[in-house]
Amino acid sequence: MDDIGPAGVPEVVRRYVRSLARYERLLDISRLLSATLNLDTLLEQIVRAAADLTGTEAASILLTARMGTLRFEASVDPDGVLFDPVEVAMDESIAGWVVTHGEPLLIADVRQEPRWQTLAAEHPRVRVQNMLAVPMRTQDKIIGCLEAVNKQADQAFTDEDVNTLTTLAAQAAIAVENVRLFEQSDLISEFVHELRTPLAAIKAIMGIVERPDVEGEQRGRMVNLIQEETARLTRMTNEFLSLARLESGRTRLRRLPVDVTELLDDAADTAEQQAVEEGIHLLREYEPVLPPVIVLGDDERLKQVVLNLLTNAIKYNSPAGDVRLRRAVGDGMVRVEVEDTGPGIHPADLKHIFDKFYRVPETEAYTQGTGLGLAISRRIVEGHGGSIGVESTPGSGTTFWFSLPLAWGGGKTT
Ligand code: ADP
Repeated sequence: MDDIGPAGVPEVVRRYVRSLARYERLLDISRLLSATLNLDTLLEQIVRAAADLTGTEAASILLTARMGTLRFEASVDPDGVLFDPVEVAMDESIAGWVVTHGEPLLIADVRQEPRWQTLAAEHPRVRVQNMLAVPMRTQDKIIGCLEAVNKQADQAFTDEDVNTLTTLAAQAAIAVENVRLFEQSDLISEFVHELRTPLAAIKAIMGIVERPDVEGEQRGRMVNLIQEETARLTRMTNEFLSLARLESGRTRLRRLPVDVTELLDDAADTAEQQAVEEGIHLLREYEPVLPPVIVLGDDERLKQVVLNLLTNAIKYNSPAGDVRLRRAVGDGMVRVEVEDTGPGIHPADLKHIFDKFYRVPETEAYTQGTGLGLAISRRIVEGHGGSIGVESTPGSGTTFWFSLPLAWGGGKTT
C-alpha cells in the first residue's frame, strides 16, 4: 500500500507528476540552450538549469582546457553566477575522474571521501556537503563535467537526479560545441581569405627569383621580401589564433586585482625600445591618484591591449613625433589614453578601425601589420566589462582610449 500524502494523493502519483514536470522543464531548457549563440549566456543557462533541475544549492560547469586540466567556466550559488576560470588537474579532481572514466560520480557525504583534497578550493563560496558530477559527452568525446552541489533540505540525490543531470549534460555539451563552431566559422573564412595576399606575394617573388637573368643584389632583395612576407604570415597566424581563442571562449579572462599604474609602466617599458629606435618620444602623463588604481582582470591580456595601442602610436606617427600615455580616474572607472602626433585617421576609416583585418589603405604601404591588434584589444577590454574607442583629427593625430571599472569603485583624482 502506498503512503497517502497530506493532500490525499498517493506518493507514487505525486512522484510521477513531479518527474513529468521535471522532464517538461528539461525539454524547455534544451530548446533554450540550442537557441543560444553566446558562450557566456549559454554557460550561465547551463549552471542555473543544473541547480534548478536537481534542487541543489550550487552548480558548476568545467570544460577541458589545456592538456591534463579542466577549467571552471561558470558556477552558480546563492550569491549569483560566477565566472572564475580556475583550472584543476585532471588526475586530482572529481571532475577529472568523471571525464576520464566517462561515468557519473555521486558523493553522498564529502566527509567520508578524504581522497578529494581539492574540493574546498574548487568551490570556495559554498561548503560542499554532497555532490553529483556527470560527464558532458558529445557524439565522439567528453568535453567536460557538470556538477550539482549540496542537495537542498538535507535530502539525498536520487537516481532521477542522476538521469536528469546526465540528460542535461548531454544537451549542454552539444550546445557548447555548436556555439564554438558558430563563432569559429566566420573567422576562419575571413582568415583564409587574408592568407591569400601574402601567399600570392611569396609565389610571385619566387617566380622572379627563379629567373636566370636576376642579378645577385636583386635576388638578395627578393629573398628579403620573402622573409618579410613569411614573418607576416607567422604574425597573422599567431594573432588569428589569439583572437579565435578569445572569441570561442577557450581563453577565459582571469579576474585578479591588477594595479593599473604598474601595468602601464610595464607596457611602456616594453615599448620604449621601439620608440627609441624610431625616434619617437614616449611620455607618461598620469593624473596623480590616491590610493592605487586597481581593476579586476587579466594582467597579461590587459598589457597586450596597452602594448598594442602604444606600438600602433609609435608605428603610425610622424618623424620625431610624441606618444602620450595618460591615465585618469573618475566615476568608478579608470580611463587610459594613448595619444600620438601621427597623420590621424580619416572618419571613413575610423568606422572600421576595430574590425578584424581592417587596415587603413595608405598605411599598408609603409608599415607591416595584420589588422587584428585592435579587434583583439576590443575583445579583451569588453571581456573586462569596459569600453574602447578612438578620436582622431586627420593631419594632427589620434587618441585611442579604453576605460575599465575600478575593482572597488575607489580611487579619487586629487
Ligand atoms: P595592425 O597595426 O597590425 O595593422 P591594428 O588592428 O592594430 O592592426 O590596426 C588596424 C589599422 O588601424 C592599422 O593597420 C592602421 O591602418 C590603423 N591604425 C591603428 N592605430 C593607428 C594610429 N595610432 N594612427 C593611425 N592609424 C592607426
